[in-house]
Order: sequence, then C-alpha cells, then structure tokens
Amino acid sequence: MKKIYLYGNWKMNMTVAETKKFFEDFAPVYAQFKNDSGLEVGVFAPFTSLWAAAEGAKANGVVFGAENIYFEPKGAFTGEVSIPMVKETGATHVILGHSERRHIFGESDELVAKKTKAALDAGLIPVFCYGETLDERESGHTFDVMTRQLDAILKILSPDEIRKVIYAYEPVWAIGTGKSATSEQAQEVCEWSRKLIKDPNVVILYGGSVKGSNAKELLSMKDIDGALVGGASLKPASFIEIYAEYKK
Ligand code: PEP
Repeated sequence: MKKIYLYGNWKMNMTVAETKKFFEDFAPVYAQFKNDSGLEVGVFAPFTSLWAAAEGAKANGVVFGAENIYFEPKGAFTGEVSIPMVKETGATHVILGHSERRHIFGESDELVAKKTKAALDAGLIPVFCYGETLDERESGHTFDVMTRQLDAILKILSPDEIRKVIYAYEPVWAIGTGKSATSEQAQEVCEWSRKLIKDPNVVILYGGSVKGSNAKELLSMKDIDGALVGGASLKPASFIEIYAEYKK
C-alpha cells in the first residue's frame, strides 16, 4: 500500500481564532486515522496563523508549513517573510509556485526556482506546484509549459535535492472551480512528470477541486501519491473525508 499525502492549502483564509477552532474540531475527526502509517496530513497556513497552526499540528501529530517565503534570509524587503522567520514557528514545509502566486502576483519560473533552492538549503521541504492554464491545455501546450516550469528547478538542484521536493501537479483550470481533472488526465501528467524528473520515487500530488466524492478515483491512480487540497481543507470533516473515501 502506498503512503497518501493529504495536504491542505488554506490560502488567505484562517485567522488565529479560526485556526484554533479548526484544530479543536480536527482532533475528533482525525482520531480514526491518527495511527494510520499510510497517511501523512499537512496544513499550510497564512503567516499570521503559523504559530497557532504549530500548536494544533503538534498536538495532533500532523505536519505544517507556510504558503510562501522570500529567498533572502533578511534585509530590506518590505512585506516579505524569510525562511528563518517561518522555521522559527517549527514549520517544516512550504508551498512554492502555487498558480495564484504565479498568475496573480507574477512570480516567474526563476523566482520560484530561487525560492525552492533557498528552502532546501535551509532544510524546509518545498511543495512545488506546477500546471497549465485552460488556454495552454486547449492549445496543446500542456507539456511544454510544465517542462518549462519543472526544468527551472531541475537544472539547479542536485539529484538529492530533487528527491526531497514534493511535487504538486495543479492544473490551473481545476483550482477552486469545482471541476477536477479526470483521474486519467491527472495520472497522465503525474506519470509524465515522474519520467521528466528521472526519479521513480519522488512524491507527486494532484491538486484541483479534490473532495470526498472524487478522492478514490484520483488517489488510486498509480502515479498520484496524494492531494493538495484548497477549499475542502478548510473544514476538518471535508478534509479528512478525502482519505476516508479513498480507504473505502
Ligand atoms: C489549491 O489551492 O491548491 C487547490 C487545489 O484548491 P482547490 O482544492 O480549492 O481546487
């Protein structure tokens, strides 16, 4: 049985009070799977809620991380948050290259690659997101776009670093739309990614409207090691339901 990674991206949601409430409600829902070695749960919180997430994650035995970082350790970068600041909370992971960072905030492949390298250098595990827009898919450019996004990190990381990254294939057209990729579409890209990365053992997640009702078909695919979940991760019941449905 493969290990399933169930990671929740809270985006710009969850105040400190809401984070505390999340973990109060999370404990009883998660209890049935707490000792399941086939599951790794992680939550990715906004910077201001990281300390609260640290407390809740530690109490429940789940991992947690930030949703972004800047690659410089300190200095005149108004509004940015450094890796040492994030690590101070106890965070072990960081989401990088999410499509909302790439498309709304204009993060380039090079910037995402610099952040990925800096995170690895500091011992943070990057959850590296990549994926095509609807236009790119419909014009037949899905694999060109993803080759460009992945190559930006593959060309600067050592084989050991490449192995430490958690990859998350997230087609932009499936994020927050309720319209997931089919399990065949997701499997096709994850299998292709594994070959491009040239390491059969890397962890590759699928993200894009994952919920209880589509969890089993997506997570049962051979090259999909888990899910990066947005909307359904905001409530413990809908978040954990994803693994419960997979296990049925
Ligand atoms: C995400 O934000 O990474 C995501 C996959 O969102 P959603 O599950 O809401 O589509």
